[in-house]
Amino acid sequence: MDPHTKQLQLLKLVDEIEGYAILVLDKRGNIETWNNGAEKIKGYKAEEVIGRHIRIFYTDLDLMISLPERLLEEAAQKGTAYNESWRVRKDKTMFWGSVTITALHDDDGNITGFAKVTRDLTERMLTETTIRQHAEDLEIKNKEIEQFVYIASHDLQEPLFTVTSFIEFFRTEYGHLLDENANTYLNFIVQAADRMKNLIKNLLDYSQLGSKKKLAKIDCKQLLDTLTVDLDSQIKKSGAKIHYGNLPVIRGYPTELSQLFQNLISNAIKFRDKKESPEIEISALKEHDGWHFKVKDNGIGIDPRFQEKIFLIFQRLHGRHEYEGNGIGLAHCKKIVELHGGKIFVESNQSKGSSFVFTIPFKPNLITV
Ligand code: ADP
Repeated sequence: MDPHTKQLQLLKLVDEIEGYAILVLDKRGNIETWNNGAEKIKGYKAEEVIGRHIRIFYTDLDLMISLPERLLEEAAQKGTAYNESWRVRKDKTMFWGSVTITALHDDDGNITGFAKVTRDLTERMLTETTIRQHAEDLEIKNKEIEQFVYIASHDLQEPLFTVTSFIEFFRTEYGHLLDENANTYLNFIVQAADRMKNLIKNLLDYSQLGSKKKLAKIDCKQLLDTLTVDLDSQIKKSGAKIHYGNLPVIRGYPTELSQLFQNLISNAIKFRDKKESPEIEISALKEHDGWHFKVKDNGIGIDPRFQEKIFLIFQRLHGRHEYEGNGIGLAHCKKIVELHGGKIFVESNQSKGSSFVFTIPFKPNLITV
């Protein structure tokens, strides 16, 4: 193919590329060629723009800071210049343009002009802005909710303290005057007040969780060695066996991570199958997105219908008389894992035990919850 035909074919190709405005400019930035994509994006026909300066696409603000001239200068100096900002169409509407200007040279290295490629990224930019805005709103809302929970639970303690104190005074001073029935009622009031005290304390702990977090290197095996000593009486009483071999050294929040393992191990012991003693296996796998930990038990298992619900605060699948607790343990676990930027879920077939899996990314310090 002779060079001229080749050149014509190339021009035709450039002309037909849609979604990209591809122009050739002279040394001063005046438009020499105009393709179909340029017409679609900017609204001008070739005859309306050939010979005019690229300044016509810029906003008044960008013209005030001589942006087009500065981009041409940068392309001349460095070979290429990139910029993203609002650009003006023929009908004066705006689009978000991504612009690359490349200097063109002759055989002796002298600049002969520029190639300018513009893409309309308005939609992408608006989507990104909306997502960013939602993320910011969500973060503010989360902070507000946490603040509210903290203040509410903190202030609830005060009247509750008055109630429990006066019940005690009442019992000490007037208990002998009450019949058995009245004393039973009083006991119910005391028990309910105690439960409420516990719930409020749990709420406070939940809202405060991670507020004093300190990132450190954690040897997970060492952490579990210490934890199993702390849980010694629970472990001995239930006859539980806890297996863990090689566990990694990771970066994370030690106090919170210890609490996470403690909650999962305590649950594995608590929700054991009465027919056999608890066998708990803790392992970790290195995956592309971080460490995947697994705490596997041979307990009563969890109905798949409730496997998401159990991570919500105060949600339990059993009555207090069956298994004691208040439904905060797994909510804590979820919050701790999320503080590290990870995820937690459970795999379980009812009556065949449960495996709690959580991930800890390699760089938890990037998360600022
Ligand atoms: P609590 O232990 O106080 O009930 P959690 O938030 O720790 O609260 O757990 C929520 C519920 O999830 C428990 O009431 C129980 O029904 C279920 N659950 C948690 N861990 C296990 C487990 N290892 N095996 C079976 N069920 C579990």
